[in-house]
Amino acid sequence: SLKQLHLQHHYADLGEVFGTFTAPTPIRNPHIIHINKSVMRLLGIDPAEADNPDWAQLTSGNKLFSGSKPFAMKYTGHQFGGYNPELGDGRALLLGEVENEGKRWDLHLKGAGKTPYSRFGDGRAVLRSTIREYLAGEALTALGIRSTRALCIAGSSEPVARETMETGAALIRVARSHIRFGHFEYLFYTRQLEAQKKLVEFVCAEFLPESIDKPIQDQAEALLRFTVRRSAELAAGWQSVGFAHGVLNTDNMSIIGDTFDFGPYGFLDDYEPGFICNHSDHTGRYAFDAQPGVVLWNLNALAHAFSSLLDTEVLKDCLGQFQPLLIEHYAELMRAKMGLAAEDDGDQQLCADLLQLLEQGRVDYSLFFRALSHYSGERPAATLESLVPPSEHDALGSWLRRYDQRLQKETRPAQDRSRAMLATNPKFVLRNYLAQRVIEAAEAGDYQPLGILFDLLQAPFAEHPGFEAWAEAPTDAGKHLPISCSS
Ligand code: AMP
Ligand code: MG
Ligand code: MG
Repeated sequence: SLKQLHLQHHYADLGEVFGTFTAPTPIRNPHIIHINKSVMRLLGIDPAEADNPDWAQLTSGNKLFSGSKPFAMKYTGHQFGGYNPELGDGRALLLGEVENEGKRWDLHLKGAGKTPYSRFGDGRAVLRSTIREYLAGEALTALGIRSTRALCIAGSSEPVARETMETGAALIRVARSHIRFGHFEYLFYTRQLEAQKKLVEFVCAEFLPESIDKPIQDQAEALLRFTVRRSAELAAGWQSVGFAHGVLNTDNMSIIGDTFDFGPYGFLDDYEPGFICNHSDHTGRYAFDAQPGVVLWNLNALAHAFSSLLDTEVLKDCLGQFQPLLIEHYAELMRAKMGLAAEDDGDQQLCADLLQLLEQGRVDYSLFFRALSHYSGERPAATLESLVPPSEHDALGSWLRRYDQRLQKETRPAQDRSRAMLATNPKFVLRNYLAQRVIEAAEAGDYQPLGILFDLLQAPFAEHPGFEAWAEAPTDAGKHLPISCSS
């Protein structure tokens, strides 16, 4: 039960180099807006505790979990290509760790007030961005992509100034680790080598237990290889589901390869490779199709921070793994989206040509793959044609003839293929216009739409009869909504 939930504080105990003990600044009139029963289970909390009135007090910083030692973590990082030494938890605090079934989970309170690293910020988070973070963690997790999640969100009556006046909110972020690339950059650029070794050991003890008795260089190399692999899988995952993170600075990159820190992210509606979801990203540094390259850039920054521990040749070798892993993983994910169980030489070209067609025709990415999951080879392929403009019908027809031929090589029965595709290509996607709809309702005090979208995103492959409207693509007005990056 909640009363038995006791937090540990291994990270905070690493020492004062790693951050600063900081008490949360409570927000006014807190109330729970939504609580995540799946995450409660993950933490070993009985979901029957969801109605416990303590949650509002705990999420707003008015009360502390037993054993909690709130700690603002220090890190730095590269933002839009430039190094910033001033970063750290500016509005969030590591409350401590929960151990359940042999795994340690960090609880991180976002919107907890000012810390020594707040710079000019107010230490707060607004309801809008808190809901966006809450939903994104669930949407990605359900799609099989590693992500931080959140236990619950609390609203308040506290006014918070952004471009307009909004209300303050807070969320308890949950992840196996909150250590970012920027944690290592901080220790490297401030030449705190002993602390850096300590941090390598700390991460290895939790995630690479087979390496713990080895020399520190071996641990560092194992960790870098692990992060490269996890990051390659992550980037492949984002590209396959059409997710654009929006602010891929190295302080927003998790050392364990979780999708981390949700700002102006976006899921693709139309397949548009150059999609830029962050309106202040004028050069498109973090455009959708730039993500794999940027993740590698960030890994380079991380590898540089490891140069105090590892030779250049080793660093190069670790980084060299990224591209083959990315390509391999992406190809596998896209084969699954196309329903191809076997592997064939032409598959990558078949996929590339389909994506080109979708781009040319400005076709909705998710709806197309969902419809393809029902395709049985009949002519005309009416549902698919309805998603593609007439100008591309010939191209669609010839692509489908190639697809039919390719399907001949499959040994899996068509029905099984369709079933597998329906469990890979979601019906429900966290589209910006849907997020906006539930945010506006919540801002007006109606949390029911948020609950509906949350449930759909946790089970995005199920049909959910009666909720078809939530599976629709936006009208033109609902595409490219300007998403503020101030959150
Ligand atoms: P982000 O752009 O969310 O990755 O944040 C970059 C840095 O700004 C981090 O050090 C954050 O802790 C800090 N930060 C962002 N918003 C606020 C805020 N409202 N108050 C204080 N610090 C903030
Ligand atoms: Mg951040
Ligand atoms: Mg942020």
